[in-house]
Amino acid sequence: MIVKGIREELLDLLIRLGESTHPREFLVILKERDGIIEELDLVPGTISRPSSASFSPEMLPLDLHKAGSAHSHPSGPLRPSDADLRYFSSMGRYHIIVGPPYTRADWRCFTAKGEPCELEVIP
Ligand SMILES: [Zn+2]
Repeated sequence: MIVKGIREELLDLLIRLGESTHPREFLVILKERDGIIEELDLVPGTISRPSSASFSPEMLPLDLHKAGSAHSHPSGPLRPSDADLRYFSSMGRYHIIVGPPYTRADWRCFTAKGEPCELEVIP
């Protein structure tokens, strides 16, 4: 699967989700259609929790269109934590982190290995 970019509408939704769950964290699964990330799925039991310390990848719905994940860092920098890196690879290739002050500039995308990657925003 080659992902070309993320739908602008979904990116805005992720940023708003970060803002509305602040100061708690959210975690969702990202799904692609025809190479564009444009949908999200909730991970059971993970939305709006105080921390992402534990969650089990076995709880993830099996989905061929799974592209990655998105979550917020209400108090941390926009880069993956050690805990993030442990689950990234089980959730796909592209991982978005959003954080305060939750503007259009406050997001980053990383590979499953935690390296920054470019994701085109597609209107
Ligand atoms: Zn994190």
